[in-house]
Amino acid sequence: MNADPAAQLRLLDLQAADTALTQLRHRRSTLPELATISHADTRLAALTDDVVRAETEVSDLDRDQRRLEADVDQVRQRSDRDEQRMRAGAVPARELESLQHEVQTLARRQSDLEDSVLDLMERREEADARAAALGAEVERVRSGRDTAAAARDAAFAEIDAATAARTAERAATARDVPADLLALYEKVRAAAGGVGAAALHKRRCEGCHLELAGTELRAARTAPPEAVLRCENCRRILVRTPDSGL
Ligand SMILES: [Zn+2]
Repeated sequence: MNADPAAQLRLLDLQAADTALTQLRHRRSTLPELATISHADTRLAALTDDVVRAETEVSDLDRDQRRLEADVDQVRQRSDRDEQRMRAGAVPARELESLQHEVQTLARRQSDLEDSVLDLMERREEADARAAALGAEVERVRSGRDTAAAARDAAFAEIDAATAARTAERAATARDVPADLLALYEKVRAAAGGVGAAALHKRRCEGCHLELAGTELRAARTAPPEAVLRCENCRRILVRTPDSGL
């Protein structure tokens, strides 16, 4: 294939733009903030479950406490009633004995119930503290996620602006390259890890970094300027420049 040496040189500009675009794409998809955000999302999902469990525990204990307090009230009222009857007098001896017995039993029952209320209140305090600690952890993770999301958005905006500029530059450069040479460049670039054209610099292929020698070097020296050279090692398009050392 033959092509104007100026068009061959433009291939190096095209390659520079393509390499920059590849790097921008890579940077966009590997921003450290993306991992931070994903990690925070996983953590928040797990924390949400924990928060629901802790809040359910608090409301269960509240309900149990109300029930116990109602029981305490009931026992107290019954005991008050018994005491009033005894104080009112005119209670037959057998009934008085049974009332006294009941008052004692009720007192024990009330004391047990009050112990249970205290125990519940203690457990509720612990559950409250757990729920509060989880709430604080949610806030901390959410705030870290917000910071990372803001940094990600700023990086995206910067990368997208650079990508738009490089894409426009690439389109302008591609217009200077003849269709057949451009097609060859694209084909080689797809097959050779994103690098289709490399400069021949001091007799070295900048694509695979191998130095030209022997017949290949002699062929490069004698080739007319418009001949499109290929590296025999990596098959990339070799572009001659004033620094090629031929
Ligand atoms: Zn090479």
